[in-house]
Amino acid sequence: MLKESKGRTILFFAVLIVSVVVLSSISVDIWGDAPETLPSDRELIFLDSMTIKEFGEANQLSNAVLKEVFGLTSPEGLQGSLSGTDIPAETLSAEVNKALVLEAENASKNWKKIAIKFVLWIVYLGVAFFLLKKRKITPVMRTGLLLGAVALFGVILGADPSPMGTVKDAVVLFGHTKVIFPPRLIAFSIMLIGGILVANKFICAWGCQFGTLQDLIFRLNRDSGDRRGILPQVKVPFSVSNSIRIVFFALMTLSAFLWATDLIDPIDPFKIFKPLVLGIGTGLFIAALLVASLFVYRPWCHFFCPFGLAGWLVEKISVYRIHVDYKTCIACDACSKACPSTVMEAILKRNRTIPDCFSCGTCMGVCPTQSISFKAGKRQIPPAGKFKD
Ligand code: SF4
Ligand code: SF4
Repeated sequence: MLKESKGRTILFFAVLIVSVVVLSSISVDIWGDAPETLPSDRELIFLDSMTIKEFGEANQLSNAVLKEVFGLTSPEGLQGSLSGTDIPAETLSAEVNKALVLEAENASKNWKKIAIKFVLWIVYLGVAFFLLKKRKITPVMRTGLLLGAVALFGVILGADPSPMGTVKDAVVLFGHTKVIFPPRLIAFSIMLIGGILVANKFICAWGCQFGTLQDLIFRLNRDSGDRRGILPQVKVPFSVSNSIRIVFFALMTLSAFLWATDLIDPIDPFKIFKPLVLGIGTGLFIAALLVASLFVYRPWCHFFCPFGLAGWLVEKISVYRIHVDYKTCIACDACSKACPSTVMEAILKRNRTIPDCFSCGTCMGVCPTQSISFKAGKRQIPPAGKFKD
């Protein structure tokens, strides 16, 4: 029986990964998204005798870029003389390159798809929130919700945007060009406020395409009660995973600012949803992460993700989160044993450091006295001597 279950876990894992890769290739082809490439800094042709229009033609700049750089309010402004703008050549060059970067960023975005994704995120997270609050998430429903999130936000709607991308791309773009792309900042704020601050790590739990894929794989390797692994599962000490995550974030930021390099790009696991651009190295790294997800809960989130790190800091002040009622809790430890990571143990005992809680609801489902809930408010302090250590 156990052997059969192990075989089934491996079979489901293989079917899932092949389906994600094949269906994502088809989806990318249908959307036909433009690749994201940053323009390199240009030497500009600049003569005092030029009009703004001639300057634009000589440097192949669109009217939108000219409008942005020279603050033009009407097409007639294009006939104005370049020398009359009083913009020093160096400043002009910096402004043009900044406008070109913003233009390229804009052009690489499929705004229709982004709008659809955000609306669906709000709806999907709203449904998950309601179900969790009402204690309605069973193991089967959890698997269904995770599968739905992978299909919708990853396979159908693609790798971009993603919660991780809002942090990573902002750091890399600013480090490389000193340009801030405002829509990305807005997306990051919405995700952090709506998806973390209001409800503990909700965007990661139920909306992030790669986070939910890892979670789904982990659940494929669990018994029907979602209490323990079929193949062995390991809880990595949070001090280890979080230290690695902090160091990785520092390296990512340093390499963006000092060497204009994107450290994540060669290992970006979200590329599983655009398999046609996968190189061998990236493919092998993603494969290792996916296999690891059978045994360790969300390895990318815990060890590498910059949004995971930002979210972990913000979840300290999340409004809705997991609570324990110590009046009815019988200290049986069922919740911390079933929790996929070390976080429930820390919440239960009110440790000083609380690891990432992905609001999965597993602990709520296994508590024999229904002492765990997902609600707003301050967490209770356990009575002295309630737990052995
Ligand atoms: S922590 Fe995990 S779930 Fe959250 S954005 Fe990063 S990859 Fe996605
Ligand atoms: S404490 Fe653990 S089991 Fe409970 S919701 Fe958080 S991650 Fe899930």
